[in-house]
Amino acid sequence: MDQKIVLIAEDSPLLGSKLKNILDQEISQQVIWVQSHADAMDVLQKSGQKIIAAVVNYSLPGADSGKTISNILSHGVPTIAFTGTVDNQVRERIWALQAVDYVPKDSPASLDYVVGMVKRIIKNRAIKALVVDDSGVIRETISHLLKIHCYQVLGAGNGVEAMQLLEQNPDIRLVITDYQMPEMDGIQLIRKIRQRYSRNELGIIGISAAGNSLMAAKFIKNGANDYIIKQNFLTEEFYCRISQCMDQIEHVASIREAAIKDPLTHLYNRRYFFDIGNKILASARRKKEPVVAAMIDVDHFKKINDRFGHDVGDVVLQQMAALLQKRCRKSDIFARFGGEEFCFLANNMDPAHAQMFFDMFCNLVEAHPIEVSTGEVVPVTISIGVCREQLDRVEDMISKADANLYKAKKAGRNQVVCQ
Ligand code: GH3
Ligand code: MG
Ligand code: MG
Repeated sequence: MDQKIVLIAEDSPLLGSKLKNILDQEISQQVIWVQSHADAMDVLQKSGQKIIAAVVNYSLPGADSGKTISNILSHGVPTIAFTGTVDNQVRERIWALQAVDYVPKDSPASLDYVVGMVKRIIKNRAIKALVVDDSGVIRETISHLLKIHCYQVLGAGNGVEAMQLLEQNPDIRLVITDYQMPEMDGIQLIRKIRQRYSRNELGIIGISAAGNSLMAAKFIKNGANDYIIKQNFLTEEFYCRISQCMDQIEHVASIREAAIKDPLTHLYNRRYFFDIGNKILASARRKKEPVVAAMIDVDHFKKINDRFGHDVGDVVLQQMAALLQKRCRKSDIFARFGGEEFCFLANNMDPAHAQMFFDMFCNLVEAHPIEVSTGEVVPVTISIGVCREQLDRVEDMISKADANLYKAKKAGRNQVVCQ
């Protein structure tokens, strides 16, 4: 895959090296740091297509102030302007050039801000935003601002159109909406969106000229994450609010992810398995669909640890989990129960097919001995206990599966026991 580049053009050795160090640690892209206009142009000529973001000092040796930024921007590279001069004229010139952001180097926090903005720009490429406004001009203006920040942008002229687009694009993560619109106004739209997506899943920012300052409260009480008054619209504030909203949504997502996943294998953890499993069981009962549960345990895992070491044991668990996960359907829940034990819930699996399905798991693991970095090959087998009975709670199905797992171990391991 073509490695993407983040370009830093900063003549201060202290600042430039600091920024490069932080970015090297925090992003996976290649970071190139140059200290002059000529070197920046050189990178632009050679690798222009690969640069996904640039952080550029307003005044670099070898060119008039602003020239480097304007050259890089003219190649379509999203650029953050870094400047020592906190001056209104410079600020306005930078916004007129359509830079991503303008950051004065007037505080120790500026470096963190720049790093955050570079990360934001990289992530935004994958984020779909929807702009809802009946005025084509305003829709275009806001869409254009979002595109400068690399969002994928869709537009709708009213709430009804917006709901249709959301239906077709359930991956939209940000909605910017006006208030007064024909068919369905902004507040009605927000209420509808919130029936399906929470504030932590999809960001909504109201933006309107209508009403007084009470309108902000009305938007937020109805589910908007934030609100901007059109009369006071400032590009800088708009970007700050949008970025803050997306940062917060991602932050909540990462906390949620950490709460439901096992850090070693990245499979779901036991608590999530029981939570979601009981919901799946309830829904399956209503639909009269069968559910199958299983407990999976690595055979003689203690011996693997003893012979190859605990670190190799960890790699075995990771690779085995990844191998089996590839064979799961989207509707299956595969989780790490703890230690070398895993649990599995198959929604709508014909109980008559369970033996064959889990035999396939055993065969797969046996056929894929794990190769570790030392070059050693670790043979692995698993035993599986299955519950095909439709019980009221996942906990009960797992107990039953565990009893069958015990039978599989006693019968010689590397096999499946169904009830
Ligand atoms: P059996 O075939 O009867 O299941 O034998 P076993 O050795 O697999 O079972 P036992 O329960 O005796 O041992 C499980 C071992 O798994 C003991 C424990 O130290 C090890 N283990 C638990 N969690 C981890 C882990 O996260 N990483 C590693 N490397 N080992 C772990
Ligand atoms: Mg075991
Ligand atoms: Mg065990």
